[in-house]
Formats: sequence, C-alpha cells, structure tokens
Amino acid sequence: MSLKHHSVPNLSYQDFPLEENEQKRNEIGNAVFGFANDFLNSLGESKAFNSDTHTFTEQDNLFQIGTESVELDDILKLFKERVVDAGLNPASGGHLGYIPGGGLYSAGLGDFLAAVTNRYAGVFYASPGAVKMSDALINWVGSMVGYTEGFGGNLTSGGSIANLIALSTAKKNKQITSKNLLKSVIYCSQQTHHSIYKAINILGLEECVVRQIPVDHNFRLSVSEFKTQIEKDIEDDLNPFLTIANAGSTDVGAIDPIAELSAVCSSYSIWLHVDAAYGGFFMLTEGGKSKLQGLKQADSVILDPHKGLFLPYGSGMVLVKDINHLLNANRYSANYMQDAETSDHYSPADLSPELSRHFRGLRMWLPLKLYGPKIFAQYLEEKLQLTQYLHEKLMELGFTIVCEPALTVIAFRYEFEERDNDAMNKAILDHIHKDGRVFISSTVLNGHFTLRAAIVSFRTHKKEIDLLVHLLQIKLADLSV
Ligand SMILES: *Cc1c(COP(=O)(O)O)cnc(C)c1O
Repeated sequence: MSLKHHSVPNLSYQDFPLEENEQKRNEIGNAVFGFANDFLNSLGESKAFNSDTHTFTEQDNLFQIGTESVELDDILKLFKERVVDAGLNPASGGHLGYIPGGGLYSAGLGDFLAAVTNRYAGVFYASPGAVKMSDALINWVGSMVGYTEGFGGNLTSGGSIANLIALSTAKKNKQITSKNLLKSVIYCSQQTHHSIYKAINILGLEECVVRQIPVDHNFRLSVSEFKTQIEKDIEDDLNPFLTIANAGSTDVGAIDPIAELSAVCSSYSIWLHVDAAYGGFFMLTEGGKSKLQGLKQADSVILDPHKGLFLPYGSGMVLVKDINHLLNANRYSANYMQDAETSDHYSPADLSPELSRHFRGLRMWLPLKLYGPKIFAQYLEEKLQLTQYLHEKLMELGFTIVCEPALTVIAFRYEFEERDNDAMNKAILDHIHKDGRVFISSTVLNGHFTLRAAIVSFRTHKKEIDLLVHLLQIKLADLSV
C-alpha cells in the first residue's frame, strides 16, 4: 500500500497578502506615519477634552469586523473620527486631569520595532538580548530608588498589575494562608489607590483586617497613629503583616513619611510596600529626591514609566528589594519548558505572572538611550516649577489650597461666602470641560467637592497653565456677580 500524497499548493511570495512586500510596506507605512505626523502637527489646536463628540449607540457597529476587507484610508478615517477625536486627549499638553500619561514618539517607534521583530521577552533562553535590556532598565530604576544589590523587578503593563505582583510577593513571604487570614492585618490610608484594594481582593486577602490609618492636614499617614494601632493589634493577638504607603498619591500627590514608617515596619516585621506609581520618577530631580528619600527602605516599590517617564500607556514597574521573594512568589516550571530552564539567568517569566509578554522594554530603553536620562530630569523639574507657579496664581485668584503640593498635584477649591460651594466649584469644573482646551478633574476631600490639577505631561508648559488660570479667572468673575 502506498501512502496517499496530500497536494500542497505551491504558492509564490505574492500569494501571501499577510506578508507584505517592500512596496506595500512603504505604502501602508507611509500612510500611518503621515497620519501620526498630522496628529502631532495639529495637537496645538486640538482640545484636551471633547465633551460633545459622537455618542456611541447600540446601532454603532462601525468597529465590527465584517466579512470584507477595507481600504487603509477608510480605516484611518474611522480611527480618527471615532477614536482620536472622541473623549479625553491624553496626548495633549492641556491634559491636567487624573495623572496624565505621556506618549513619546520615540517610545512609539520602540514599540513598532518590538512588534515587527517580535522578540520573546519573557524567557532568557528565547531572547537573551530582550531580557538583558529589561534587566538594565530595572537596574537603572532600582539604583535611582536607592536599592543596592540583590533586588529584582519586572516591567508590567501598569501600576495596578505592579501593585498586584508586589502584594502577592508580600503575601507569600509573610505566609498568609487560610490558617491566619482572618487575624492578619493590612495598613493603608484614605489616600491608598483603589488598585491596592483590587489586588487585596484578587489575592484573596479581603478577609484580612484592613485598616485605614488617619492622615494629617496634608493627607500624609500619621506615624504615631500607625504605631499605636499596631501595638493595639498585637495586644489583641492579631498579625500585622503589610503596610502600603504612598510616594505621591493620585488624589492629592501626598508623600507618606516613608523613612519613619519603614523604621516602625521593620521593628514589627511588617512588609512595607510603597506605591510610587506617580511620584517615583521625581527621584530624578533634586527636590523630589529629598522628599522621597525613604524609598530605598521599602520591601517593594512600584513606579509607572507611563506617567513619570512620559511613555505611552502600558508601562509599569515593580521592584522588590530581595529578588528571592519575587522568585518564590512566581516561579513555576512545566515539562514543555525544560529547554528554557537550562540557563542560569532569571527570566521575566520567573518573576511575574506573565509568560508571553509584550516586549515592553524597548519603548522605555530607546528614548532613554536616544536622549539620555538627564533630559527626563529637566522635564520633571519643569513640572515642579509649573506647579509652584500655578500654586501662586491660584492663591492670587483667592482659591483655597486644600493640599499643599508635594510634587505636581495641586488640590484647590473656591470658598464663596454663603453659597453652595460644592455646586459652585462643580460649575467651575464644567466651564473648563466645556471649553475643552485644558482638562482638570475633581475629587472629594474632607467631604467637599475639590478641584485638582496634575502637571505631568511632557507637553505641558507655561502656556497651558496660563490658559487654565485665565479660564478660572473668567469663571470666577462670572460667578461672583
Ligand atoms: C496610576 C496609579 C496607579 C495605577 O496605575 P495604572 O498604571 O493606572 O494601573 C496606582 N497607584 C497610583 C498612586 C497611581 O497614581
């Protein structure tokens, strides 16, 4: 009996449209680069927030994948109208809401190269270069934070996942299991980011005792209250194991007294995690360095390069002071991974929940190599100065500063006499949103509606701050009549 031969079509290169030839690559590449240039060239006139663009309805099926192919021009048109021109514009220097992200062009090019070369950045064996590149970034940030030998880290998709990895490491290290869960205590403050509570929940720690320690008038965790609470908890036979401190809270930019908290934590064997997602990269500045000194004492720290290093969204980092703890919480093996386990170099896959991952090192490494870290420090210095400038202008206009800016977030509110001040300040916010050229956001502090501006974008300069001050002035004049 002879084997039946399957016939395989003998196709030429041109028969595979998913493998574009050079001419086609240039054609679609030029269209995309042209689009990017038009976008960037028009940023000066673009709004930071479009409140009245298309509303998306049930019938809005424009994004649906149909059966036919579509021309690139039509695709880019749809992308512009329905994605780029709708909602918030985080690429705008006028974006002063929440914590603005960046979007460096050179980082975008790094992403492009990462995707096209498609290196497997999760495993050393598969791409020693990509892993070494990530290591260099982790080492650079670790040294900036003040860590010395023996630390480890991971490039993550953002601060939330970085927080999750840090907390899972703390949980593993402090041996929190069903046997001691109900008696174990986590300390944080009212300024703790909600991603921490999410992580607590995902990690099955929601049945721990979670305590919010009171804060001072600048929303910094009170060390004496913290200490008193720990002592009381120990007396009550509880198991304090984890503290979460802020190095620049999202809400008001508060920096907890990290060095003092660390001293308390180490005397009670409590894991200290510092959330420096927003504030961490201010370590590159003189002013920031003195305020963030305690960072190096933390057992774990997270930072968001998509905030303080102006990268596009999708860049976070977790650092753990002792790499072995990170390894213990994440290393697993499998039979089909045996070839990859022969090297004696740690892989990102050993130090995080991810196996396959975005080669996200290149988008961070390329701008840092191309321009040098000093330029990033200068940009951050400018943000600190702009914040002081805005602070003065707000005081001149008669605003109450609800929290003194430690870095570049400023919380403020106007106290009109005998008026519903929550509604009045909301009206100020609505006015700014309606104009759209700059965007600020709001929060609730001490029970009151409060305005806040966060100056982080590499595209925010004096012009944008002056515009904000101008708009506030106009609205105040309008409301005081
Ligand atoms: C932004 C932020 C986070 C969450 O980070 P994502 O990158 O948005 O996931 C956590 N903590 C703080 C203090 C932040 O500013």
